[in-house]
Amino acid sequence: DVVVVGSINVDLRLDVAAIPRSGETILARGMQRAAGGKGANQAAAAARLGRRVAMVGAVGDDDAAALVLRRLAAEGVDTATVAREPGSTGTAIVLWERPESTIVVHAGANAAVTAEMVRERAETLRRARAVLCQLETPVEALGAVVATAPGLTILNPAPAQGPLPHDLLARFDLIVPNRFELGNLAGAPDEPRTLAEVEAAARSIGSGADWVVTLGDDGSLVVPGDGGDAVHVPALPVDAVDTTGAGDSFCAGLVDALLDGAPLLEAARWATRVAAVTTTRHGAMDSLPRRDEIPEAAGA
Ligand code: ADP
Repeated sequence: DVVVVGSINVDLRLDVAAIPRSGETILARGMQRAAGGKGANQAAAAARLGRRVAMVGAVGDDDAAALVLRRLAAEGVDTATVAREPGSTGTAIVLWERPESTIVVHAGANAAVTAEMVRERAETLRRARAVLCQLETPVEALGAVVATAPGLTILNPAPAQGPLPHDLLARFDLIVPNRFELGNLAGAPDEPRTLAEVEAAARSIGSGADWVVTLGDDGSLVVPGDGGDAVHVPALPVDAVDTTGAGDSFCAGLVDALLDGAPLLEAARWATRVAAVTTTRHGAMDSLPRRDEIPEAAGA
């Protein structure tokens, strides 16, 4: 059903009381090493919701590669189209300052996810009902994805990379940035604050795609590409302990519902419930819910 073209990382997650200042050394309260990366997280999230998922990505030839491949396979993600590259697997240093994280990523093998690599996996993309991309792998590959994939194409433009070519954005069906990434894509000096500013920023890019802008505990804003009214979807009131993976599970939830034929707004409501569960649990992949763990819509 779903192909994810994106990053695969090993996350070194350090539990810190505060983010250190420049030049400062601090002690972490705990450490965890686990599979992560936006691509891998979104793939695992969709698999946990019951989708058949294949991953197009790359890992290194180090011990981290075995760790992340084993984990993806255990999540039920097909890794046959993941390349093994000489060198290190992508690595993220996650400073977890409850409930938010500050992250530094080294691309490592993820840099090998080029347009050429995507074209070599064209058969996989042609069979997909939906393809999900992010910006943790080379941007140049996105053109090859939209040129090849006949199904639904979704871009989560994270992490922010500055404005992208208009004609590239226009070829995606759905774009799912957070508030910061939207401001960055729009080339705006400040991130959009109010819902009106968020809507204006999405419409200013005017790609014709549908937009769902995630707003943390403010929920999300659905901005239809056909010029229809924007609709705010509030977040679920939950006790958030760790928002890592919230955006990734939100994207997976959207794809999941859209593949079931749900209209965009209904898909955003489902994604909101999926993401809410994710924030109540620790870790990235560990926190992703299975379908039967998503709360009923009542009160949503
Ligand atoms: P990202 O992690 O990519 O920055 P957001 O922080 O916007 O993405 O979160 C994505 C979605 O997760 C939000 O649209 C919302 O539905 C849900 N979410 C995030 N934080 C919370 C929270 N504190 N409580 C409830 N839901 C949340």
